[in-house]
Amino acid sequence: MTIILNIKADIPMKSFFQTGILLLLLVMGCRQQPAVKQEPGSILLKNYRPVSIYNIPESHIEKARFGVIDMHSHPYAGGPDEIAQWVKNMDRAGIEKTIILSGAYGTQFDSVYALYAKYPGRFEVWCGLDLSAFGGDEFADKAIAGLERCVKAGAKGVGEISDKGNGLNKQDDPAKRLYLDDPRLAPLFEKCAELNLPVNVHIADPVWMYQPMDSTNDGLMNALDWRLDDKPDYRSHGEMISALENIVKAHPKTIFIACHFANLSYDLNRLDTLLHRYPNLYADIAARYAETAPIPRFAKEFYMNNQDKLLYGTDMGFKPEMYAVTFRILESTDEHFYETEQFGYHWSLNGLDLPAAVLKKVYHENAVRIIKGRKPGGMYQ
Ligand SMILES: [Zn+2]
Repeated sequence: MTIILNIKADIPMKSFFQTGILLLLLVMGCRQQPAVKQEPGSILLKNYRPVSIYNIPESHIEKARFGVIDMHSHPYAGGPDEIAQWVKNMDRAGIEKTIILSGAYGTQFDSVYALYAKYPGRFEVWCGLDLSAFGGDEFADKAIAGLERCVKAGAKGVGEISDKGNGLNKQDDPAKRLYLDDPRLAPLFEKCAELNLPVNVHIADPVWMYQPMDSTNDGLMNALDWRLDDKPDYRSHGEMISALENIVKAHPKTIFIACHFANLSYDLNRLDTLLHRYPNLYADIAARYAETAPIPRFAKEFYMNNQDKLLYGTDMGFKPEMYAVTFRILESTDEHFYETEQFGYHWSLNGLDLPAAVLKKVYHENAVRIIKGRKPGGMYQ
């Protein structure tokens, strides 16, 4: 799941003219937001809401430049009306299809599927793993039976499975944890290949959440809410990236999608190495826009070098403003803008200005290769 959910209200925009007026009002609105009245010397980091001083162009990109497949979303809609609104928002943003990572199995999967099945071309629902028999002899059999059942019920992939250091089964007791590279999971990952199910994996979290929460922590204003530095018995960030590599290497026929840049936005070279080494590994860019937009030249280079392995995703609800922020970051040349409320950081952000050919791949073509072929692929094969 995302670490960032505070998205602004839905504002209908019908024409370029109206968009301009609304943008102006929005900008003025932001600028007129009452500042927190405090002695300057006692302003807290958590209340710091800088407003850019630069009089430079600002983009508002409501619709993506090319058709999009959103590879990372969740069953946010509470019922049919909200799903209908979601589809409208997708149309407006140019999102052709959204992958719902339900994480559910059994009858819980059935109820999520039933809600989204009304729009078969617009959504796919992926399922979770049934780990309930973990520790017993029947563990793998039960989990595989659960997978086969979900496939019959309409599942097209597996995800999001998540290990932030306390195992996929989120245990306090280290002895009871089922880590991503536990050999007992091997038959499941093999089964996923056999059933043509790509697996979306959330491994670790941004590195600053594992670092001391002191005055040097670069992500402190967001990390404090999600801190993991106070859980010393969790696996370390490095150990978890190794666990990801272990399963990708051990199961070359299974497609793995490491979501959120494998939580390596702080060290994209490491992810670059993994993506080049393993044809069956992809990465989605969901909910890590704020973590890559502060380093636009390096991030763009990374996109250029891995343009066949990156997948657009959101993980942040379905409001038009949310989609627009992602397009602004991927497409525009905007510099030094803030999205403090949405992202929780007061880092200033920049557009990556990705070329058309790369946008097409990240928005659409790489996803099509996975969801149509559902076989390992990519330029590194
Ligand atoms: Zn997610």
